[in-house]
Order: sequence, then C-alpha cells, then structure tokens
Amino acid sequence: MKNFILFGAIAATFALASCAQEPAYEQTEEIGPFTVSLIKENVWHIEDYNSSHPRGLSIKEDGSYTFNSCSDMYIIRGKKKALLIDLTNNITWTEGADEALRKIFYDRAGDREKIITVTHNHGDHTGMAYAFENEPGISFMLPVNDFKDDKIFPAHKQLIADRDCINLGGMVVDCVQCEGHTPGSMVFFLKGHNLGFSGDAIGSGTGVWIFSKEGFRQYTTGVENLLSYMEDPKSEIDPETFVLWGGHTYQNSGFELGVQTVRDAKELNDQIWNGTAQWEPYNMVARGLDATFKNGQAMVVWNKAASEEAAAEGR
Ligand SMILES: [Zn+2]
Repeated sequence: MKNFILFGAIAATFALASCAQEPAYEQTEEIGPFTVSLIKENVWHIEDYNSSHPRGLSIKEDGSYTFNSCSDMYIIRGKKKALLIDLTNNITWTEGADEALRKIFYDRAGDREKIITVTHNHGDHTGMAYAFENEPGISFMLPVNDFKDDKIFPAHKQLIADRDCINLGGMVVDCVQCEGHTPGSMVFFLKGHNLGFSGDAIGSGTGVWIFSKEGFRQYTTGVENLLSYMEDPKSEIDPETFVLWGGHTYQNSGFELGVQTVRDAKELNDQIWNGTAQWEPYNMVARGLDATFKNGQAMVVWNKAASEEAAAEGR
C-alpha cells in the first residue's frame, strides 16, 4: 500500500510534467540522485531527483511526507567544449552526489574543455559547487552582477555580462541578462536550435519570485531586454518552436515557456505599474510573497502592498 501511494505520487508528478515539457526525450536514466534525459543531440537535462526521492511533494501511508524542491541543470556539448548550466541544490538526502555529478558531466564532456556556469546566485542553483571546487581543468563563467563579489566559486572565475557569447565549437550560446529575480539572472540561448535555459529568471511556469520594489524595477528592464533579444531576427528564434527550459521544470503548469510567455510578461509588468494587473493571494507571507499577478502565460509572485507602492511611485 505504501509503495502504491508513493507510486501514485510519482505517477501524478510525471503526468503533470509529461503534458508539457518532456515529449522530446529519447532516453532517461538515473545516475545517483540525478535523473538525466536527452533533450536533443548533445543537449541534456539533469534534475536532482530519483525514484527513491521524487520531485515535489510525496505523501506516505502514515501521513508523513517528503518534499524535493527539485532543481534543473543542463549540459550542452560542442565539438571543443562542454558547458554545464547550474549546480542544483546541495544534496543531503543521500551520499555521493558530488561523485555522481562529476561522472555525469565528465562522461558527456569527454576530453573537451569543461565550463560551468549558473543562471543566478541562489543556493538551489549553486548547491553542488563544492563538487568541482578542487577539480583540475574546469573553468567557471558566471553572471557578473550576481557573482562579482561572491566567494562560492574559485578566484579564477571569469565573469560574463549581457550579450556575451560562449562558443563551444559548432554550438554557440548567447548570454542575455534578465535581472529581477536576482540582480544578475542570466538566460542562455543555444543559437540555431530554438532552445534557451532560463533558471528562475521568468519562473518555471508558476511565476517568477520578486522580492522588492527594486527587484521589480530590475525585472521590468530585464524582461524588456530579454524580449528585445528574442524578437531580433539575428537571434534566429522561431517563435512557433522555441522553448525556454526553466530551473524547476517539474513546476510547469501545462505550457512550455517561450516567446509568448515573455511577451505576456512584458504586458503584465505594464499592468502592475498601472495598478491594473489581475492577482490572487499567494501563501508565502514569511518571505513577503503574498500575491500572484497573472497575464496569459506570465506570472509574478510578489507582495501586493509593495506593488501598490510601486504603481503610486511610477516607473
Ligand atoms: Zn532563484
């Protein structure tokens, strides 16, 4: 019975996700605490869950529960270099996560140069940094506004800024800043493949968390910058097929993030500034998050009173 209930919870989690972002998988395997899936040739999606510790909420027969705030990483492999995007949570629910993550990256990178970047400076995206801190042959390339004074990564890190480009050899990654969730949140675009990797910059389908008026001001600018990149023909984005992969894809609420999501986000920000955005209560008052603002595919999770102050002050 216990297993049945647990299986039910896992199945429900997969059912939720499978209606949205996982149709392209050709193979999926568990490696230690991670689940690795192929998105397309030379591009992998890695989540910090396995069948013993599923994504999200799992309720047991005795009423106790586990919660895995699963976070996502991605590997892009070019001819000369391989890039690992994000470093998930610091995994403490099992042993050997560091070794497993090194194996996942090194097996796929082979003898290519290895680069690690992260979308932003939050603990659920930098948690496994320690797995690589003493490793030879790793370069760290990190968003400047989140990491210029940071001590998580070694001193030899290289800082990346808006519109920088990482050439992996036949695979080119454009870096586009979309600040707001953090001051330096970066979105990575795999050019010519209609794929992007957005961390928490615009949320993962359940809203981007914004923590202050200054954060919302930044987010307004960040979304405009993101959209200007995505709508520029030089970016080679097909709005019909382009998909943004978020930092917590299991939270996906039934649609793929894409160009329309960012257009809706820009419109939503205007509505918040005008005081006309539709909203409903959100229950994380301890972190100051008490409202979800919605427009189409876009959601902002923030504070109602702060949004009213912002609207009164104007942009
Ligand atoms: Zn975050």
